[in-house]
Amino acid sequence: MVHDTSGRPKPGRARAAISAKGRAAPPPYASLNRAKILCLDCRACFKRDRSKTGYTCPTCGGAAVDIGSAFKAPHRIATRQWEVVLFLASHGFRYRKNAGPAPRTMSEARRRVGVT
Ligand SMILES: [Zn+2]
Repeated sequence: MVHDTSGRPKPGRARAAISAKGRAAPPPYASLNRAKILCLDCRACFKRDRSKTGYTCPTCGGAAVDIGSAFKAPHRIATRQWEVVLFLASHGFRYRKNAGPAPRTMSEARRRVGVT
């Protein structure tokens, strides 16, 4: 029997970081504790690590709000839907899963947040 005494790792050893199931380890940014944030000025939605000190928009640097995980941004030119979203966000409404349908019109939105 011939032993390899060169001390070098055999080809294929470099893949040791891959788990036993054959999948690569998740990248370091793939945190499970992510918040969906919305910039009210840009009408842009991002995912960021959850923070207790508030969020800033990565595009304009302004304040952004945690809009809730169930939020789906309307199309950029859907101005009536954006009016509802911005009204709800500015009144502290959060789009939560299993919370029923979110308000779609301004009258529904006013009723939901208690503003008449
Ligand atoms: Zn912004």
